[in-house]
Amino acid sequence: MRHFDAIIIGTGQAGPPLAARFAGAGKTVAIIERHKFGGTCVNTGCIPTKTMVASAYAAHVARRGAEYGFAINGDLRVDMKRVKARKDEVSGRSNKGVEEWLRGLKNCTVIRGHARFQSSNTILVNDEVLVANKIFINVGGRASVPEMPGIHDVPFVTNSSIMDVDFLPEHLVIVGGSYIGLEFGQMYRRFGSEVTIVEMGPRLIGREDEDVSQGVREIMETEGIRIRLNAKCISLIKRDGSIGVGITCEEGPPEVLGTHVLLAVGRAPNTHDLGLERAGIATDQRGYIIVDDQLQTNVPGIWALGDCNGRGAFTHTSYNDYEIVADNLFNADHRRVSDRIQAYALYIDPPLGRCGMTDGEIRKSGRRALITKYPMSRVSRAYEKGETQGFMKICVDAETKQILGTAILGTGGDEVIHVLLDVMYAKAPYTVVQRAMHIHPTVAEYLPTMLSKLEPFA
Ligand SMILES: Cc1cc2nc3c(=O)[nH]c(=O)nc-3n(C[C@H](O)[C@H](O)[C@H](O)COP(=O)(O)OP(=O)(O)OC[C@H]3O[C@@H](n4cnc5c(N)ncnc54)[C@H](O)[C@@H]3O)c2cc1C
Repeated sequence: MRHFDAIIIGTGQAGPPLAARFAGAGKTVAIIERHKFGGTCVNTGCIPTKTMVASAYAAHVARRGAEYGFAINGDLRVDMKRVKARKDEVSGRSNKGVEEWLRGLKNCTVIRGHARFQSSNTILVNDEVLVANKIFINVGGRASVPEMPGIHDVPFVTNSSIMDVDFLPEHLVIVGGSYIGLEFGQMYRRFGSEVTIVEMGPRLIGREDEDVSQGVREIMETEGIRIRLNAKCISLIKRDGSIGVGITCEEGPPEVLGTHVLLAVGRAPNTHDLGLERAGIATDQRGYIIVDDQLQTNVPGIWALGDCNGRGAFTHTSYNDYEIVADNLFNADHRRVSDRIQAYALYIDPPLGRCGMTDGEIRKSGRRALITKYPMSRVSRAYEKGETQGFMKICVDAETKQILGTAILGTGGDEVIHVLLDVMYAKAPYTVVQRAMHIHPTVAEYLPTMLSKLEPFA
């Protein structure tokens, strides 16, 4: 039995900085990782996908060379082995960096192995029992593989296994038209694959407002990506040299034939094999660990951070979980999850930056709200760059004048959104942005103009 001040399970986005915080405070900490250091973001999520998105963007711009005044002699062919090598290099550097950082921390013991609770203060790993009065769970999630007909009869890839692909699929059929499916869809289309996205719902990214879904659909379809919506009863079947994806859609043929299938139908938390029951830790029906506003589980001395608590599904939410827990423990702060404002991006090109409420949520809340919308085709910076797809939308509370929610689907949208997000955190009125002088030519320079054209919700 080894005793520590704290045990951390998983090296995702919250575990490593928390280990450093404990170690820096002179406390002994053990951090356990069963697979790759850095978890999803570093190895199969944000970092590798955004590195590949960058390769896809470069290929896309090169194909548009004539529009910008240059020619590429001969065929433009993407070398997937080199795309993968670049991705492996960038992602590998982060993975190595996390491991070296942890191993270099004084007071921190790094253990490779699968951790399981034995009781509320003991963890079993590699036949060794570790004891601590504070235990932090940062085990993340994995791709969901639903029991659809034919799933055991045909090969398919998920966001993890597609990381090993170093060839160009002739026709990639993506099951799932949400954030992950859309990023891979556009990326592979730009690499040169035929791409069909099959979505069960009536529109892409169904959590967003209809105009956002429609704008994203137009971006995808302009590049020749086929979209099949309302796809009920999805099934997989082996066909001669290809894979059939059976769908019952209101429109179009009942089967899409592809060479490869990517399943992008959601994520599940890695909580099924942690022995949570032995510690008495409660989960919800989907396996997410139930936590309070300060990320404590129902068992005193045990916290859950990151994707496994169901309170966020992003790198920044997991890192923010770390900040909340660390500040509360080390600085006697009172930070809470409910203080944060929802914010994220969809990394198609042009990207979608989102924060706060959707129009739908605002309507449901019954507030009196104002809205302003501006097409990217009228933004001079977008025009100059030849990237005019999308629009910007801002909603404000008619009484408090505070910004309620925004969507920026357009070039630079993932960065510009922060102008509005920070004003939301400041709880300042929108007039702060409206009266600010912004730099020309930028996308953000239109925010003051937009905010002087607010109108009541239709
Ligand atoms: C394709 C894709 C793209 C994404 N893109 C973005 C993006 O652009 N921006 C963004 O903000 N987010 C993105 N995300 C989400 C983001 O990757 C996650 O939200 C983020 O990694 C937070 O994860 P985490 O800290 O909860 O844990 P994870 O990063 O999932 O890490 C958990 C770690 O725990 C380990 N572990 C699990 N169980 C055990 C156990 N029993 N014992 C020991 N170790 C264990 C795992 O091996 C893993 O290393 C993306 C996700 C995917 C799949």
